[in-house]
Amino acid sequence: DYLNRISELEPKIHSYLTITADQALAQAKAIDAKIAAGEEISLLAGIPLGIKDNLCTQGVRTTCASKILANFIPPYESTVTQKLNQAGAIMLGKTNLDEFAMGSSTENSAFQVTANPWDLACVPGGSSGGSAAAVAAQECVAALGSDTGGSIRQPAAFCGIVGLKPTYGRVSRFGLVAYASSLDQIGPLTPTVTDAAILLTAIAGYDSQDATSLQVEVPDYSQFVDQGKKKKPLKGKRIGLIRETLGAGLQPEVSAAMAAAVKVLEGLGATVQEISCPRFAYGLPTYYIIAPSEASANLARYDGVNFGYRADADSLLEMYTKTRAEGFGSEVKRRIMIGTYALSAGYYDAYYLKAQKVRTLIKEDFANAFAEVDVLISPTAPTTAFQAGEKTADPLSMYLSDLMTIPVNLAGLPGLSLPCGFDQNGRPIGLQIIGNVLREDQIFQVASAYE
Ligand code: GLN
Repeated sequence: DYLNRISELEPKIHSYLTITADQALAQAKAIDAKIAAGEEISLLAGIPLGIKDNLCTQGVRTTCASKILANFIPPYESTVTQKLNQAGAIMLGKTNLDEFAMGSSTENSAFQVTANPWDLACVPGGSSGGSAAAVAAQECVAALGSDTGGSIRQPAAFCGIVGLKPTYGRVSRFGLVAYASSLDQIGPLTPTVTDAAILLTAIAGYDSQDATSLQVEVPDYSQFVDQGKKKKPLKGKRIGLIRETLGAGLQPEVSAAMAAAVKVLEGLGATVQEISCPRFAYGLPTYYIIAPSEASANLARYDGVNFGYRADADSLLEMYTKTRAEGFGSEVKRRIMIGTYALSAGYYDAYYLKAQKVRTLIKEDFANAFAEVDVLISPTAPTTAFQAGEKTADPLSMYLSDLMTIPVNLAGLPGLSLPCGFDQNGRPIGLQIIGNVLREDQIFQVASAYE
């Protein structure tokens, strides 16, 4: 059914870069056989998923939506997709993204532009726009994305679904093509909070192949999802509304949806107070030093020798330069230039070192806030989905889309976006719930009660 739906809708939505139909059907048949034989199957057995195309899948093309990796077939499997395979989940295909996950609209893909299923003229958000659109259009049950500065939460908000960026280190990054390694984290995009809890339980955990993965037990997160429909499920919960996210620049319907969400949370028994994170707004400029710096180092490996595309040339140097000039898109080149500049000997202290210090201050703001409340809330994005092409000529206005999500990555915290209303054009609005380090349980409690 899902494959049929993909054939029907893909000409309009363009969520997938690769569809692995034969493999998916073979896996489904194997599960059918198990059921016929009376064997027990696991919770995720047979569940069709979309996988963001920056996660390595053995034998299946993994492009990062870049010309430079157009024909790259990984010889190994990422830890998360391996875990899902072992749990019996079925990959339907690899989903579109902004090239190397750099962007907020999925328009930076070298191959295709994905449409927002709620309004085909609008972007689905990014960079995990293919995953978010596929889930919203029911071209898969759920999907995996990656989030470096908001790339799971912002597209989830734009597409009216749930998206979770786990605590940094909660999920192994092994096999995720690195963008900014100190910020990247893999997470689920799902129709419901319960589904997000189930998928996080399946993909989380320590992995010796990722030096930053945390050696912490994985709880069954679905125990924190309130299915009991208690009268005041959030009694005693302290929720902080981040003051710095409510100012000018917010679409009026987003402000109104936030005010309504606060009322709902209070009605569920929570206490909601405004709380200040004074350095919150410095997140964006800090991120645009740190992320490009790390990206410029990570992308140095695409030199035409080891991976993917190689340009014809007469000398080695010409081969390097031509490969990179022809293989990378303009946003990727912009980030490489910003990053190498910020890291160069004469500017390192002024930019990179300074940004790392500000990052510490932003973390401190969150730590102070979490001394007073259990979770923080904010809009996921200042606006709802915008028109395709609207911001492509103006990178700064595009970058502003991640104003509310970026500080969460800088501090390594978990954050979830869930739907909290619509604007007057019927485009979804997202509510962001932020937890303290490894307190996904708190996020799930609040999100499921609200949902
Ligand atoms: N939009 C942000 C960027 O372009 C965040 C992307 C992401 O989280 N991967 O870097």
